[in-house]
This record gives sequence, C-alpha cells and structure tokens, in this order.
Amino acid sequence: MNGFDERDTVFSRMELKPGTTRYQEYYAAHPHRRAADDAARAAPSEHPDDPVNRRLVEAGFGLLEDLRPLARGPAAAHGTDLSPGEATAFLRRLAESHGATSFGVSALEDLCFYTTRGRGAEYGSPVEVPGRMGIVFAVPMSREELAGAPSPRASAEVVNAYLRVALVGLVLARCLRAWGHEAACTMDGRADLVLPLAAWNAGLGAMGRSGLLLTDAHGPRVRLGAVLTSLPLEPTPGPSNRTSRVCASCGRCARFCPARAIDAGPPTDDGRYRPVDHDACFAQWRRTGTDCGLCLVECPYVIR
Ligand code: SF4
Ligand code: SF4
Repeated sequence: MNGFDERDTVFSRMELKPGTTRYQEYYAAHPHRRAADDAARAAPSEHPDDPVNRRLVEAGFGLLEDLRPLARGPAAAHGTDLSPGEATAFLRRLAESHGATSFGVSALEDLCFYTTRGRGAEYGSPVEVPGRMGIVFAVPMSREELAGAPSPRASAEVVNAYLRVALVGLVLARCLRAWGHEAACTMDGRADLVLPLAAWNAGLGAMGRSGLLLTDAHGPRVRLGAVLTSLPLEPTPGPSNRTSRVCASCGRCARFCPARAIDAGPPTDDGRYRPVDHDACFAQWRRTGTDCGLCLVECPYVIR
C-alpha cells in the first residue's frame, strides 16, 4: 500500500531521544533533519501562564491515553443483517447524535493512509487496518474558546474537541463491532490515516491553502475523526474540488502565519497549494510554548 511513513512526521521525530538506537537510525537515514530537530527539542515547551488550562490540556491527553485501548476490539461472533444503505444511515444518525456536524463515507484511497507507525510502542510497525471503508466525521470547536489563539485556553479547546471526536469514534466502532464487523477509530494525532486527506476523500470539504480541511458548515474550525471498518457501506458523494476557490483570492493564513510556513503563491499546475512547512510550523509552536492555530482562527470561514 502506498502512503505516508508516520516516522517522518514532526510529532514522531520529536519523540526520538538522543542516544537511543531509534534516534541514531533515524538521523543516519535523514541527516538533513538532525540539526533543526535537535534545536526544536531543546526549545522551551512550557507556556509560563495559565496553569489552569495547561493542566486541562494535560488531563485531556491523559484521558485520551486511557481511552486508546478501546479504539480496537474483537467483533461480535454473530453479525447483524443490514444493507449498506441502512447501516450508513444509522451510523450517520449515531454520529450526529454525539456531536458530529459533517459525515462522509468512502472506500479510502492509498494516499489517505500511513504505511508505517511512528509513535510510541508501535514505532516501525506496519499499519494494519480493519478495512478500507472509512467513516470520516467532523466535530466543531468553539469559536469563543479559540479566539485568543495561540493560547493555553485555545489549546484546551483543541484537546476537548479531540475528546468529543474520540467519543463519536468509539461509539461508532463499538456499534460496528457489535454488528459483527471489524472496526477501529482514530484518537487525536495517532491515526491510521492522514485525516484531512481522508476527510477530503470522503467529501467533507475542500483542502485549504493552510493544509486544513475547509468544511461547509464550520470551515477549518473542526477536529476530524474516522472509523475504519470491514463492513461494506454506501459511499456518500465524493469531493468536488481539491482546493477551495476562496483561497486563490484570500491568502490570510499565509499572511498571518508567524513561521512563514504557508505558501502565499498560486496553486501548482495540478491545482494544489504547496505543502505547509510542518517543521517551520512546529518550531513556532515550540517558541510559543503552545500550539499556534493562527491559520485556523484567521480563516474567513471561521471569522465570518
Ligand atoms: S485563510 Fe484564506 S487562503 Fe487560508 S485556508 Fe482560509 S480561505 Fe484559504
Ligand atoms: S499553526 Fe501557526 S505556525 Fe503553524 S502553519 Fe498555522 S499559522 Fe503557521
């Protein structure tokens, strides 16, 4: 299967500890990344203000870790007989009843998947998914809580949204397993999928210049989640545009990005924007001491 190697993501690289075999092997293969990654690791990562929201962020990620084992599990021995259309309609209602505002189903393309895991104990193992049928959904974040980004309060809203997404995913995956089918859900950044691409593939919106998915209902002011399953489902209408037409005349995210990580130029010949420089973005997060989110809160899809 073609796809992305999660070990190359900046979040995976930041888990590499100098002196370990994993660190040595990675930078022997990617020596051009070592100096910048070492500098990012050495930068301060604790915001000096707002211990209340800082602790809330830690508590949220801790709860996600506690929930993570529930993302997968055995399917019930006895299946339930539902047509793909009936199952899809049921799952949509279930997702919406738990807070999802966008919902799509697609047999996901290779480009949506990671091939090799890059986080935690599973580092280096191949990604094995229960099926290629993806249920992708979005849960909105509070405009008010995000308004002061970058800030610990905005970070807390992001983590709270991860938890709301996790609940939707856990409920859907448990339901599918109760129907007798393999199913697993994503949890915050540890996904089998590159979620914006999966969400685009499932028709939830267009890709923005910022690399964020722009949903019809809330623009990029969402967190995305997904469930992968072996159950055949009825695909929802797929993507219409690869990128948002608004981005061509807007460019606010590129102008506001303090790291100059977002390209301000026109799309390339294939109609896509140049990829966001995630290393520059993450270095900015380390300098700020919290995640940034300016490209999100300054998007006109959010502030309209
Ligand atoms: S801020 Fe503007 S250019 Fe950037 S993603 Fe939003 S609409 Fe597109
Ligand atoms: S999160 Fe901040 S630093 Fe990263 S791309 Fe967006 S605006 Fe730039």
